[in-house]
Amino acid sequence: MSQKKCPNCGKWSIWTNNVEDRCEHCGELLSPSELERKEKLKQEQDRQEKDWMFYINPEDSGIVKFFKKSGNLFYTVFMAIMTFIMWLIAALPG
Ligand SMILES: [Zn+2]
Repeated sequence: MSQKKCPNCGKWSIWTNNVEDRCEHCGELLSPSELERKEKLKQEQDRQEKDWMFYINPEDSGIVKFFKKSGNLFYTVFMAIMTFIMWLIAALPG
């Protein structure tokens, strides 16, 4: 177990390398910037997921969901075939 100096009150507090650890003296986050960075990363991941053309929105109607699911399936199969072809080319002698 290590300790970290609290950015808020300046006292040393137990730090378990967790960005959500709080100061045992004042209750402030010991690493607010790292938590922020983690949050941003999560938001970025969420955004990318929603930008995905076949992202299934819970508000989509049944038919839209059906097409998106078909699209996802098609894309997955397509990528699998492409991966196989790439592997085949790489595996071919010469
Ligand atoms: Zn503190």
